[in-house]
Amino acid sequence: MDEQNSIRNTQHSVDTASVRVSLDVESVLVDTFSYFIPVYNERHDANYGVSDIDCWEWAREEVEWEHFDGLIHEGWQDPVENMEPKEEDLASVVNDFASHDLVQLDIVTARTGVENKMLEWLSHHGITQFNQFRATEIPKSEFDYNVFIDDKPGLANTLGEKQLQYLVVGPHNKSMVDHEDVIAVDTVSEAMGHMSTHMLVSEGIDEYW
Ligand SMILES: [Mg+2]
Repeated sequence: MDEQNSIRNTQHSVDTASVRVSLDVESVLVDTFSYFIPVYNERHDANYGVSDIDCWEWAREEVEWEHFDGLIHEGWQDPVENMEPKEEDLASVVNDFASHDLVQLDIVTARTGVENKMLEWLSHHGITQFNQFRATEIPKSEFDYNVFIDDKPGLANTLGEKQLQYLVVGPHNKSMVDHEDVIAVDTVSEAMGHMSTHMLVSEGIDEYW
């Protein structure tokens, strides 16, 4: 295990899982923009709203990338209560789904250096039933997951034959909703509900590949 690919907090393992799922953290579980925008506005006497984030490149065009990334990073140093979840009752949704016999759920983030705070955030919100927490700078598609619940636009362009993305739609990634390897959803609950109904029950896993 190298520094850029730290794997921590193996809480339980599922050796015979049929669907390997990667669940993203920022802008999927955590409402990152709602944290960032007020902080940015206050410090810079600006007046941005969430609707101003109309594409993934927004941060690079409107705000210096290092500054954007730094503010989010800084946010993770704050008490975890400062970062709101994107939806209520995430714990029961995620824990129930992760407990399914045919699911191996990992929580995977591309942000490194704040692993302990992310784990604290997950614990604070009662999200405990997952296999691994992984913070990695390696592109996610290079891991052996079948399904990515993720807001990152462009991820679907890198996926292999037996991989698909549930795109958690936001103002920054709407350009990807019609991609052939994407199922667009509003929430993690919707993604997990869809998988539970279709992939794991009525249609069967094989129908998806
Ligand atoms: Mg994300």
